[in-house]
Amino acid sequence: MKIKGISKETLELILNASRAQHPKEFLCLLTAERGIIDDILLLPGTLSSQRSATLRLEMLPLGMGVVGSAHSHPSPNNRPSKEDLRMFSRLGRCHIIICYPYGETDWACYDRSGKPRRLEVL
Ligand SMILES: [Zn+2]
Repeated sequence: MKIKGISKETLELILNASRAQHPKEFLCLLTAERGIIDDILLLPGTLSSQRSATLRLEMLPLGMGVVGSAHSHPSPNNRPSKEDLRMFSRLGRCHIIICYPYGETDWACYDRSGKPRRLEVL
């Protein structure tokens, strides 16, 4: 499935959840229908810290329309860390990182190798 974009509502949901979770990191999976990311999938126990969340995510089989992940950085830096890149390579092809202060433009999307990719807001 080619990912064309993300729905505005879903992006807002992720931004709001990231704000609410600050200064902790927020993490979720992204699901898509007809090439558009239109929902998130929360996993129990993934909100405490990114490190443990990453491990849990890696045990998940892909399916259920999961196309990638989204997580927040409580700092003004939305570049992927080494752990992020490891997670990206295993979890689909579309990964959003939202950074503090979680505004409309405080996010970036990366492919599974950590290269920035375009993601249209629809
Ligand atoms: Zn990260």
